[in-house]
Amino acid sequence: MDTYTHNSLIYFLRDKSPRVLLLSGTHGDEYESGKLLEQFLYRQHPNFPSFLYIPQISPSAVEAGTRKNKYNHDINRQFFSDTTDPEAQDVMTLLAPYRFTICIDIHEDPDRTLGFYLYDTGLMTEEQLSTYREVVHTTGARLYTGVDDVDDEDLNLHVEKGYVSLGFELANPSSGFSSRWLHDQGIAERTFTLEIPGKGSSELKEKLLHSVISFLLTTHGII
Ligand SMILES: [Zn+2]
Repeated sequence: MDTYTHNSLIYFLRDKSPRVLLLSGTHGDEYESGKLLEQFLYRQHPNFPSFLYIPQISPSAVEAGTRKNKYNHDINRQFFSDTTDPEAQDVMTLLAPYRFTICIDIHEDPDRTLGFYLYDTGLMTEEQLSTYREVVHTTGARLYTGVDDVDDEDLNLHVEKGYVSLGFELANPSSGFSSRWLHDQGIAERTFTLEIPGKGSSELKEKLLHSVISFLLTTHGII
C-alpha cells in the first residue's frame, strides 16, 4: 500500500486504475472508525482489490476532533465546483481524473450506540437488502429505523431498517455533499455512506466495517 500526498492530503493507492474509493475523516468528531479502517487496510490490503483511500478528507477537522474544519465549514457541504474551501478543493482535484465502480465513505452517527445505517446513491434490490440486513445482524449491531438528523435541514431523511436510498434526492439542487459531487461528476458509479454507531465499542465498529465493506464489494462483483 503506497502512500502519496496531494497538497495537504495524504492518500493510499493500490494499482494505477483503482476500482474502489475509500473515504474517512470527513468529520473530525467521527474519526475512530477512520482509524479502524486504516488499521484494517494495513492488515488486509494484500487480499483487497485495487483502491484509492483518503483517510482524512478534512485533515484540520480530524486534527481538532471537530465536525467543522479550520475554515469553519462542514466540509461535506462544500463539494461544488466554485467552493472556496481549500480542503474540499484538494479532494476534488485529486479525484477528478479517476473513475470508480464504488465509493465507500465512512462516518459515525454520534447519537447511536448500536443502531447502524447507510445511505446509497443507488437502490439495492430486495434480495440485496435482505442479505445486507442479515450481514448487519450478525455483527451484533441493530438496524436503525427513524430520522437520521432532525437538526440538519439538508438531512432529515427517514431511515428504514438501516437503509436510505438517495436516488430521489438526486433530482433536488445539490447541498454540497461529497457523494452527490462524485455522482454528478461521474467519478463514482455508486456511493455508500456508512453511519457507524459513534457510541458503540471499537469491536462493534470493526465488525461493522469488515462485514459491510465485504458485503458491498462482493455485491458489486469486486471480490
Ligand atoms: Zn459524518
